[in-house]
Amino acid sequence: MLITGGSRGIGAATALLAARRGYAVAVSYLRDEGAAKRVVDEIHTHGGTAIAVRADVGREEDVVRMFQAVDDALGPAAVLVNNAGVLERQTRLEHIDEARLHRIFSTNVAGSFLCAREAVRRMSTLRGGGGGAIVNVSSRAAQLGSPGEYIDYAASKAAVDALTVGLAKEVAAEGIRVNAVRPGIIETDIHASGGDPGRVERLKASLPLGRAGSPEEVAHAILWLASKEASYCTGSILDVGGGR
Ligand code: NAP
Repeated sequence: MLITGGSRGIGAATALLAARRGYAVAVSYLRDEGAAKRVVDEIHTHGGTAIAVRADVGREEDVVRMFQAVDDALGPAAVLVNNAGVLERQTRLEHIDEARLHRIFSTNVAGSFLCAREAVRRMSTLRGGGGGAIVNVSSRAAQLGSPGEYIDYAASKAAVDALTVGLAKEVAAEGIRVNAVRPGIIETDIHASGGDPGRVERLKASLPLGRAGSPEEVAHAILWLASKEASYCTGSILDVGGGR
């Protein structure tokens, strides 16, 4: 299982759970090599198999090299979790410039497309592959729009939803299922990236379940969609938002 952005937050929780379920795991990261190494070390400590690969999912040559590294170390990925995602400081549309749009859409949209492409090239039964599963990590923001915070991020996640539905139909007859999770407010570092480290604490009481979600709760949904238990799900987008 290849998990992009598997070094921290939801991706790290997914990697650790996947290893406990018996998957050999590849985690990708962009900057924080130490965090990726800690995930890999923890999996090794428990007798699992894991590697870390540095790659910017928004750069085509990095994505091609990352999949090749996984081929060489573990064999072609049977599951791709398109988890790497970024947001930027909370602001209104008036303050969003071209460079920011490129950064958000390069990682969240182009990254998901390029990784899915490399996965399909390996998994498709039409190309001699053994089939597989892709799980995209979208966001409740795709439907809520994130007004006053980051509508660019919300729009990028709406694109991930469209990728999920379209690609699911495109490769359904080729042994590949494509699904997504839409997490709500989950306790990770991403909120600090938006310049609002207190966001989870401030909003949690207003959520229907009265609390934020944990990365592990999202990981369980991802692992289920990737598993044979979800064999009749494709093009499905599962909200993991505590009712939000
Ligand atoms: P996080 O804690 O900020 O971790 C982000 C991960 O993505 C890190 O491993 C980071 O690696 C990696 N990454 C960032 N840019 C990358 C790039 N260009 N190429 C490769 N890796 C990259 O985030 P998170 O909260 O776990 O979020 C994971 C996913 O869930 C994202 O897609 C996010 O949009 C989505 N989500 C999160 C929430 C939430 O409340 N937390 C809610 C809805 C959806 P480095 O550390 O090396 O930079």
